[in-house]
Formats: sequence, structure tokens, C-alpha cells
Amino acid sequence: MGRLVILGGGESGVGTAILAKKEGFDVFVTDKGNIKEKYKNVLNHFEINWEDQQHTESKILNADLVMKSPGIPETIPLVVAIRKAGISVVSEIEFASRYSNANIIGITGSNGKTTTTMLAYHVLKEAGLHVGMAGNIGDSYAKMVAENSFDHYVLEISSFQLDDIVQFRPHIAIITNITPDHLDRYDYQFEKYIASKFNITKNQTEEDYLIYDADDEVIVERLRTNPVRSKLLPFSIEKKLSEGAFIENGKIIIKIQNNTIEMSTETLALEGKHNLKNTMAASTAAKLISIRKDTIRRSIENFQGVEHRLEKVLKIHHVQYINDSKATNVNAAYYALDSMKSPTVWIVGGVDKGNDYKQLMSLVREKVKAIICLGTDNSKIKDVFGNVVDLIVETYDMEQAVKVAYKIAERGDTVLLSPACASFDLFENYEDRGNQFKEAIKKL
Ligand code: ADP
Repeated sequence: MGRLVILGGGESGVGTAILAKKEGFDVFVTDKGNIKEKYKNVLNHFEINWEDQQHTESKILNADLVMKSPGIPETIPLVVAIRKAGISVVSEIEFASRYSNANIIGITGSNGKTTTTMLAYHVLKEAGLHVGMAGNIGDSYAKMVAENSFDHYVLEISSFQLDDIVQFRPHIAIITNITPDHLDRYDYQFEKYIASKFNITKNQTEEDYLIYDADDEVIVERLRTNPVRSKLLPFSIEKKLSEGAFIENGKIIIKIQNNTIEMSTETLALEGKHNLKNTMAASTAAKLISIRKDTIRRSIENFQGVEHRLEKVLKIHHVQYINDSKATNVNAAYYALDSMKSPTVWIVGGVDKGNDYKQLMSLVREKVKAIICLGTDNSKIKDVFGNVVDLIVETYDMEQAVKVAYKIAERGDTVLLSPACASFDLFENYEDRGNQFKEAIKKL
């Protein structure tokens, strides 16, 4: 089978190692940092060779094939050397797909991937299909392929995971939206990031489908200048479409050829315009694999939602607390603010990724009664919104932020944590931030 070197001993690396070992490869895992204990145990269990805290080039450069984990940039000297040596490099998604014949729904985009993936998975499961969910969520796709034989996979795929695909071909691809993110990995060129997202369609043929947001100008422009082979199924909340999903008289209409389904927007489990879009995308995919209308309707109504994404935490003295800690960029916060139905005390801030807050200006003016800054550097937020919002308070930890919010909020208001920033200044990650928010609320 040959010698496979795996760069990175995290979820994708270890998953690939398990699958590759099963398929008869001579496998070597190498990680410059620490491999977590739980992963070391797995590698040892499968008798897979590994090293951490180093990269032994002599062992790496004689590989027949390299799997590069998504977190590893192209620019590090080792990757440059591997490329120079002419060794093929694949991503985990590519490698795993070579060993599975399952029907794939692949979901990418800047925001909404996890929500759409979990929703689509939920609908397929409710329909009784033998389906797995993997990728950028939970277990790696490779590990799933090694251990199961599902008929369908719903895969959440980040742009990094799409960078090194060769033959990967999802029957149904979804691009939820494209807004600037992670540009540091793409030479600060938005075009490169867009191209990477569109890699999801690279191997699709006329037999396959691309479901995408027709209200997203970036996607529409890209499709105009770089047409794809896949059949196009757009969704829109702004205009009526001849085919795809759209809104008419307060209903979601999904039209595929001569087949139409209608669903009420009133009874959806998830709130907000963005979630309407996610629901349309997931339902269109479900319709494409012939799931019955009633099942689709029922499952988008009984879906439980996703933690840290517009998650309703508690109501205290008629004030609703909402955890949207996963809003790590401005676009996500935009949709959160847009979906607020009452005066909002907004907890915002963290690590700024070159944010342009001006897009939020009119929403903030309309909905936000107070801003609570929660970051180590809040100067930009104060500068931008200083003239728009009367009350801006700086806080230094979550408990303090929640206490201040509690004091400010009045009956009928909402307290929203939707930071528009990464979390690494004060928290381990967005989950830690969201959990601390929930803990602080419970202590009130
Ligand atoms: P991802 O997996 O792409 O990061 P998530 O589903 O985890 O997406 O949602 C991330 C953040 O973006 C959350 O704050 C959520 O409320 C918001 N969001 C979800 N779907 C969309 C969408 N379609 N457009 C814009 N923002 C969205």
C-alpha cells in the first residue's frame, strides 16, 4: 500500500491513521507539538508509529503520500520541503473519501456550517436513514469510515479541509455563505479563500448538486465568472426563484423540477433569518434524497438547536439571556442582532480579526440599549459605537459582564452574548466562553 506520513496528531490525523492502518498502509504520525494523551493511547492501541515535539525529516521525506492536517499552514518549512520533494499531499477528507462509497452531503461556508450540518443530519436520521455525521464536527470523517459503513454522510467541511482535495466528490454540496474569514491563511486574498470554498464543487459532475445562498453576492459573482458543472439549487429569502428554495406568503417553498413542498416558517425550531437560510439549505438537501415532505416538516420543527448558537439560556425577571458565543465574526453577530425582538444588552468583544463594525451600525442603533465590552482591548468598539449607544461599559471577566448586564436589563429586554470576535484573550475557546456565560447566569 505504501508509506503514509501524517502531519498532525489531532482528530483528523489520528482518524486517518486508524483508517490507513486498516487499509494496509505503513503509517507514521508526526506532530511538532504535543499529541494528546487520548490520541497517543489510540495510536499505541493500533500499533501505529508516531513522534511528537519534533518532525524527523528523514522519516517524513521518504513517504509515498502525505496527509496534512487542516491546522498546518502551507508555509512551514516542512511542508515546503515535502512539496519540493514532489510527494503527493492530501487532506483527511480526500483520503477518507477514497475508502467509502456512501452518499455525501458536504457542507461548507463561512458561517452556519455546524447548524446546517446538524440539522441535515437530524432530518436524515428522522427519516430512518443509516447516516453518519463527521468532519469539522465531532469525530473525523476518516475515523467514521474506518469504523462504520453508513449509507450517507453529512460532513461539515472547513476551507482548510478543502485545500488538499483531489477526487473528493460530494453528491450534494452546500455553500452556506462566504464572508472574509481566516484570511491570514490565504495570503490576505479573499479570492483565494473563495476558491478554497468552491473546491467542494471541483469534482462534481452534472449528476451532482450545489445548494447555495442566492442572496450572497460573493457566491453569485463567483458562479457567474467561474461556472460549475453541478446542477444549481439556490435558496433565497429575498426573491422568488424558478427552482430551489424561497419564501412566499410566509412559507418556505422548495421547488425541484416539478416537485414542490411548502412548509410554514412559523413553526421552525430555529429563529432568525440566518437560521431560515440554514433550514432551507438542509431541507433542500433532504428533498434531493427523496425524504418525505412530512418527515422534513416534522424534523425541522422538533430540532433541538445547537449549543452556543443563539442558545436560549434562561429567563430571569422577564429578561431572556441568549448565548451566541460561537459568533466569532461580525457577520454572525449581524444575524444575531437582526433576530433580536426586544431591546438588547449586547455583550461583545474579544480578539478582533480586523473587524469592520460599520455593517452593524443600523442594527445597533435600532436594537441595542447598552454595550458591555468583554475583551482585553475594547478601544475599537468604544470608538465605533460611542456616538450610537448611550451606555458602554467595559468589563474584565464573564462574571462581571453578566452582573453588569443583569443590572442594566429591564423587564422584557434581552441579554445577548454575541462577541463578533475570537475568544482567546480571556477564554480557552468559544465553548469555554459560552459555558462561563451560562455559569454566571445561573449564579445570579
Ligand atoms: P460555523 O460552523 O460555520 O462556524 P455555526 O452554525 O457554528 O457555523 O454558527 C456560527 C455563528 O454564526 C453563530 O453565532 C450563528 O448564530 C451564526 N450563523 C449561523 N448560521 C448563519 C448563517 N447562515 N449566516 C450567518 N451567520 C450564521
